[in-house]
Amino acid sequence: MRKIEHIGIAVANLAASNALFEKLLGSPAYKTEEVASEGVRTSFFKSGPNKIELLEATHPDSPIAKFLERKGEGIHHIAFDVEDIRAEMARLREEGFTLLNEEPKRGADNKWVAFLHPKSAGGVLVELCQEIPD
Ligand code: ZN
Repeated sequence: MRKIEHIGIAVANLAASNALFEKLLGSPAYKTEEVASEGVRTSFFKSGPNKIELLEATHPDSPIAKFLERKGEGIHHIAFDVEDIRAEMARLREEGFTLLNEEPKRGADNKWVAFLHPKSAGGVLVELCQEIPD
């Protein structure tokens, strides 16, 4: 785990939250992207060296729709930048963490991603992400 790559925030309405976070951070989203496999539409903001990802559900079965039903809007996950996602997944499995993915999958923002179950990680949904080389 090299650093926090971004913090993910679940939102009910991406357009409204984009406007809110643009005001909050003083700069607009630099990227918006749909990840069909996850049922989410995302936007990314920069705050200095840090990133914030907003996530909106694109259908009612999306994990984000389920999260909003249970908890409402708010912090959804913390993503860590890793150098070698497969090695990190193996290390964490060995340490007793429960992974939600057997294999890395393609996520937003040109990354390989995998998630840890919050029940094994102190109630926090943890995302591992590794930049996909161009
Ligand atoms: Zn994320």
